Amino acid sequence: MEDRMVWPHERNGQFSVRSYYRYILAQIGTQFAEGSNVQTQHILWKHLWKMKVPNKVKIFAWRARKNGLPTGQQLVKKHVLSDGTCSLCLSELETLAHAVMSCNAIHKMWELYLHVVSIANNMSVMDVALQFCDRKLYDQLATFFMLMWSFWFRRNKYVHEKVTLSPKQVADNALTMLHSFDKVKPKTQIQLKNHYRWQHPPAD
Ligand SMILES: [Zn+2]
Repeated sequence: MEDRMVWPHERNGQFSVRSYYRYILAQIGTQFAEGSNVQTQHILWKHLWKMKVPNKVKIFAWRARKNGLPTGQQLVKKHVLSDGTCSLCLSELETLAHAVMSCNAIHKMWELYLHVVSIANNMSVMDVALQFCDRKLYDQLATFFMLMWSFWFRRNKYVHEKVTLSPKQVADNALTMLHSFDKVKPKTQIQLKNHYRWQHPPAD
């Protein structure tokens, strides 16, 4: 049996310049794709921090991005629970996307409040957030996170206290909070600025 050099990127194992060229192009393509993904994530993150929302919503966004929210799926992974089924609908594994976007009681809410993006079944929360960034809909991004936070709050009320809140009620309350936060914050900043305005030292 004689030794033979095999080019692994072609089915017949034969090296050719054409095949090598194709291989290099594919490598460059992958690097571009990964690079643009990192860049998009960076843009998303920048906008998440600039959102005019209460800090608790920013913390929620941060935890959502890091997969740090105690969903059924995460609790099974950490061996806290043996079954990660959603407590509200009792029919699907509770991923974050399920808990705040697609669980049956809240699914329809998204059509009511945010019909500008498409939310497909297999999308993660961050996939949807990226759609807002791609279209430069930054106000909608804040609304999206505010509503997700409210649905997560509703989920926790049920899981920890067995209290069932209406999805529409929590969504409306969250949007009222968002609008008042948007109005109040600049005013508070102006008041603070006036309060701490530089003054001349008293003349002798
Ligand atoms: Zn559910």
